[in-house]
Parts: sequence; structure tokens; C-alpha cells
Amino acid sequence: MFNIILFGPPGSGKGTQSERLIAKYGLKHLSTGDILRSEIARQTRLGLEAKGYMDKGELVPDEVVIGMIQSALEENPEAPGFLFDGFPRTTAQSEALDKLLAAQNTEIGLVLALMVSEEELVKRLLNRGRTSGRSDDNNEEVIRARITEYHKKTSAVAEYYQKFGKVRYVPGEGSVDEIFTSLLNEIEQRRS
Ligand code: ADP
Repeated sequence: MFNIILFGPPGSGKGTQSERLIAKYGLKHLSTGDILRSEIARQTRLGLEAKGYMDKGELVPDEVVIGMIQSALEENPEAPGFLFDGFPRTTAQSEALDKLLAAQNTEIGLVLALMVSEEELVKRLLNRGRTSGRSDDNNEEVIRARITEYHKKTSAVAEYYQKFGKVRYVPGEGSVDEIFTSLLNEIEQRRS
């Protein structure tokens, strides 16, 4: 099993690159943002609770997303590996993920961190907001709040995995193909 975390601030291209990576390696894609949006669309209790946080650009409480990931891991015992996208976003989530994976005798193989400047992030997210229908992409204040949350809580995730020598930084600006090629290079190096 080879498990990857695709890491980076909101708007860094995790969703776009995830689609390509899962197609190439047959990994199971686990995006907490996607799972949360599907809960909201189905108007579940979890979705209604999460929406309040998401619309303000804040993180959803750790217990909620950790529970979601635990269920997703249990539901996919046959997966050849997982691609985590938008998770873990806090140190507590990282520790919980490591424990869940260890219980299945596996671990994170690689953390791929996409690097994109803040002005480029805001531009991309506002642009996405015009077509995605995502309420958290429509408002520059909410976008800036998400980036602040990233600096306050999420950037620590890279430091956490750096202690284990698992993080590789990849430039997230350039064409989608160029970025994908850089990601593949890192994966192939790590697997060989
Ligand atoms: P983006 O990377 O563009 O912010 P996501 O779809 O990953 O988009 O996340 C959208 C929102 O969902 C976040 O701003 C946050 O409120 C919530 N969310 C997603 N993943 C997590 C997580 N692992 N922990 C806490 N909140 C999360």
C-alpha cells in the first residue's frame, strides 16, 4: 500500500492534481472537502453543522473530519492506497491519521506539498467562485480567512511530517501538466 497526502493551501490545485494522480496510480481519493460538500447537499446533520464553519472560512472540528476519514478507511479495505486531499489540516488530524493507518499496518509514504503565492491563490479562488457555485469561493474575505487558517493551523502539518522526512515541496505554479510531472517525479523517486 502506498498512501500519499497532497498538501497545500486552498486554491493550490490539490483537486486538479488529485484527479490525475488517482487515474495514474489507482489510489482511492479521500477529499474531506468533497465529503463535507456531499453531506451538505444531502442536508445531513453533519453537513448542517459543517456548513456554518465552512461558510466562515474556518476549519470544521477535528472530531468530525477524523470520524469521516475513519469511516472512509473502513469502507475501502481493498484500496491499493489512499490519496488524502485536504486532510490532515491540523496536527491533531495528522496524529489521528497516523494511528488509523498504523492499525491497518500501513503508513503515509509521501507528503507532496504544493507551493503557490498568496496573490495567485486569491486570484484562482475568486475565479473558481464564478463557476463552482461554492459559497466559500465567492467572497474575498472568506478566502483570506481560509488562507489565515492555513497559516495558523494547517502549515504545522508539513512540519509534523517533516520530522519523519516524508515531505517533498513542489512548485504549484506553471501548467497543470508541468506540475503533474513534478509530482510524478517525486513519487517515482520515493517508490524506487
Ligand atoms: P480548499 O482547499 O479550497 O479550502 P476544501 O474543499 O479542501 O477546499 O475545503 C473547504 C472547507 O471545508 C474548508 O475551508 C474547511 O472549512 C472544510 N474542511 C475541509 N477539510 C477539512 C479538514 N481536514 N479539517 C477541517 N475542516 C476541513
